[in-house]
Amino acid sequence: MMLSRALLSAAGKNADLSVPFTDLSIQWRQIEGRALPDIHRLFQSGSFTLGPFVAQFEQAAADYLGIAHAIGVNSGTSALHLALIVAGIGPGDKVLVPSYTFVATAWAVLYVGATPVLCDIEEDSANIDVADAEERLDAAVKAIIPVHLYGQPADMAGVMAFAARHRLVVIEDAAQAIGARFDGRCVGTFGLCGCYSFYPAKNLGAAGEAGLVVTADEAIARRLFALRHHAQSERYVHTELGFNYRMEGIQGLILGHKLPLLDSWTDSRRKLAQAYHERLAGLPLTLPQVVHDDHVFHLYVVRSKDRDRLRDYMRRAGIETGLHYPVPLHAQPALARFVADAQTFPVADRYARECLSLPLFVGMTEVQVERVCEAIRQFFGSSS
Ligand SMILES: *Cc1c(COP(=O)(O)O)cnc(C)c1O
Repeated sequence: MMLSRALLSAAGKNADLSVPFTDLSIQWRQIEGRALPDIHRLFQSGSFTLGPFVAQFEQAAADYLGIAHAIGVNSGTSALHLALIVAGIGPGDKVLVPSYTFVATAWAVLYVGATPVLCDIEEDSANIDVADAEERLDAAVKAIIPVHLYGQPADMAGVMAFAARHRLVVIEDAAQAIGARFDGRCVGTFGLCGCYSFYPAKNLGAAGEAGLVVTADEAIARRLFALRHHAQSERYVHTELGFNYRMEGIQGLILGHKLPLLDSWTDSRRKLAQAYHERLAGLPLTLPQVVHDDHVFHLYVVRSKDRDRLRDYMRRAGIETGLHYPVPLHAQPALARFVADAQTFPVADRYARECLSLPLFVGMTEVQVERVCEAIRQFFGSSS
């Protein structure tokens, strides 16, 4: 397809017509005034790892999420790893994981020596399909990790009922969905543990790597606090194999300044998603559906049978897009030994072929949304 001459020359002549996939500087500008004096204080005090800023953030995060205990760690992947340890999952155990997610969901299962059992996803929500999980169940399955993909809650009513029926532990991967609610309750607070990532591009992003694991169980929380800090139960005493998964002071500081703004940022994400929805209606695209209560739109992912050519057209028009995710877990070389030839994942495969993530970030303007949509309309030959 020919790139529209107007669009092409506009993108070439004027870099301002391009639209980035994300722009984190807008978030920094909103907290800079209040954060800088605290950064000065942190460097003066030398509380570079854990320390008061991390403790304050943990308390604020627990209050925000509505759960008793929040333990700051150095990444979302570490949060998942520790959650599986405290759930008692180990060699010989199997864990149900959606095949369509970021690979770290499955890494955590491998880190504890357990076996991931990959499941297909729901057509409408892109989250784990409980009916499909039920078919892949055997006596060795001990846990399930629902992922709240793109910021949309998994069907937690279905997951919790299924887990209760089969006595499975539930660990939630809420890395993309902080603040999303299912039946009014924050995702990440349904299972034994909920895991969050503060990778900079996530809805709540650190100034580097960070993560959080939450739990309502006090004994589990105590063990998590110890495990992230070399399993030091008291000074110089290490009760089990521990890890250096501590959250850095600077991350607690930045996250503490950003958390009060999260709900307003989520509102702006929802408005941008709504603007896309209205402008893209009627085109030969599958738009994301809000299926399970509220969605925090970490990503706005459309689907197109002509995804690769559409993506290329948009790139030439100066519009950056993303792919989340073009290679499902069952097609990953590192996970091949966990997939039998006879197993199929038709919905995950279709998503992997057709998914296209459009720009969506805090501070994005309606004009930028319109530019993205105009490029898509022109690709389909239906210029407004
Ligand atoms: C980002 C992410 C993770 C991993 O978090 P890190 O902080 O990058 O380690 C895990 N699962 C999902 C679904 C994610 O999006």
